[in-house]
Amino acid sequence: MSRSRKLTGKRTVKQVDAKVDELARKTDTLGTEFASFASAAANDIMKLNHLIYGLLDEAGKITKIICINCKKEAVRPDIEGIEQSENCPHCGRNLHKSEQITLDDLHRGNMTESGEDSEE
Ligand SMILES: [Zn+2]
Repeated sequence: MSRSRKLTGKRTVKQVDAKVDELARKTDTLGTEFASFASAAANDIMKLNHLIYGLLDEAGKITKIICINCKKEAVRPDIEGIEQSENCPHCGRNLHKSEQITLDDLHRGNMTESGEDSEE
């Protein structure tokens, strides 16, 4: 039996298992390497983002808008040719127009109201 296997060149189950283990290890390494690369790239993008917005702010090329819906500040660059989104980066709703209140907002609103009124 073993002689015929050698002759045909077919892999034994052990050899296939070893190959699968090897591939799994390589995939793990690749995944780890990609994760650290992605995190480094994301960090760099964040740094650049801060730098660019800092420079634009100094040059007076930034508009700060308080979102009417979530009251958070949205920062928009005043650069010709750059499309201005009317949507809030924090809540995704329109920055200027009060939009329909969702159940989530009601829940949040109730929570803050009850927190403020708790001293009564
Ligand atoms: Zn918002």
